[in-house]
Amino acid sequence: MPSPEKSQPESMQRHIRLLSHPGDYGIDPVPLRWGAGTPAERGPLIGTLGDPARRNVIGSHSGSYTVYRALAVAAGALDPEHQADLTDTRPTHTIGPFPQWHGPKRIVSLDPYGAIVQDVFRDYYAQGIDIRPTIAITAAHLVLPEVSAAIAAGRLVPDGRVLLADGECVVTKAAIEPAWHLPGIAERFGVNEGRLRRVLFEETGGMFSELVTRGDLEVFLPPIGGQTVYLFGDVSQLGTPHARITARVHDECNGSDVFGSDICTCRPYLTHAVEECIKGAQQGGVGVIIYFRKEGRALGEVTKFLVYNARKRQPGGDRAERYFARTECVAGVQDMRFQELMPDVLHWLGISHIDRFVSMSNMKHDAVTASGITIGTRVKIPRELIPKDAKVEMDAKVAAGYYTDSTLPAASELAEAKGRAYVIPPAAAPASELLPEDEARGRERA
Ligand SMILES: [Zn+2]
Repeated sequence: MPSPEKSQPESMQRHIRLLSHPGDYGIDPVPLRWGAGTPAERGPLIGTLGDPARRNVIGSHSGSYTVYRALAVAAGALDPEHQADLTDTRPTHTIGPFPQWHGPKRIVSLDPYGAIVQDVFRDYYAQGIDIRPTIAITAAHLVLPEVSAAIAAGRLVPDGRVLLADGECVVTKAAIEPAWHLPGIAERFGVNEGRLRRVLFEETGGMFSELVTRGDLEVFLPPIGGQTVYLFGDVSQLGTPHARITARVHDECNGSDVFGSDICTCRPYLTHAVEECIKGAQQGGVGVIIYFRKEGRALGEVTKFLVYNARKRQPGGDRAERYFARTECVAGVQDMRFQELMPDVLHWLGISHIDRFVSMSNMKHDAVTASGITIGTRVKIPRELIPKDAKVEMDAKVAAGYYTDSTLPAASELAEAKGRAYVIPPAAAPASELLPEDEARGRERA
């Protein structure tokens, strides 16, 4: 294991390679033809750093964790030359290949061969090239209190296959790291590829210089969160014409999903989708939940919490008519999730029709159908599952055009404060830190 030299700055120990150019001596990237009909013609993504001349992507593996990897190397905990021993890591279940994997435009934000690189690129491993899987597929049992409650209420019945007698759900799950084909990404967003590369370079503080120096490299491994797929039922049905799919595409909300915060409907919607997926799988279909690491509409949790404060402190209290405006004031936009890339994972799963789509988001619905996947029924969250403080969010979304099968809330209803005001116990903070109106509102509601 290497240990960092403390005596002099590393910059003095070795030359730092700031950027490379296509014509540089020794540059010989492994050929890559995105969307080609076979893995052999397509070629593997080489994102490892051991053999820089053969690299054919910009960036490095592990999404946002690439920075932790660098930290581990800097701290001397990780040998930068370490090659992964992939013994016994192959997928527990086979997904694909499907016809949607071919063609350069259907999938542009992940590598469809990412889970099976050990098999389809065997020859490259034989040459000593270090190829990392960007997708891993495994199996698990889920234990969720909401599923137990659904069993107790008689809404779910264990069948011993999808849902076990003790309430455990049997799932197959896949973790996916992003891999962006830059020409395809630019086309999805209707921007010039050169401009996209330049802005990605500039707006990350110049993090990936090869975005602008290596026009010959078309794939970028961005340092962002990926996605996890949870599959319920017989996954071998995926890609078949008779597969009946129940699906939810869920964007991360740590506060609700994990910690049960009641200001939004995220976890209730997610667990409702689990219930729907179990039912679909029990009827012979496949349930699909895709969990995207796009916290707080991809604005991040700091922005999200700032917006919560702004919503609750604004004159007139937390109300639906100001829901999106407060986000825009803080972040400059209402939403940065950009559902344009979201359908890629559905195509990776070989899905061409979704029978039951568990979502009320028109952005998600429209992105899925625009990508060529048809949707049967849209399933919304039952009223009784909406948490108390989340009424503001629900009304705002319905008024903004999210899918609903009931009447739109009236303007007077949107103007009404429905969110809980902050209740801050007097002993918890010095009085000087409280705004007078918070204190008054808190006492009034307490
Ligand atoms: Zn949420």
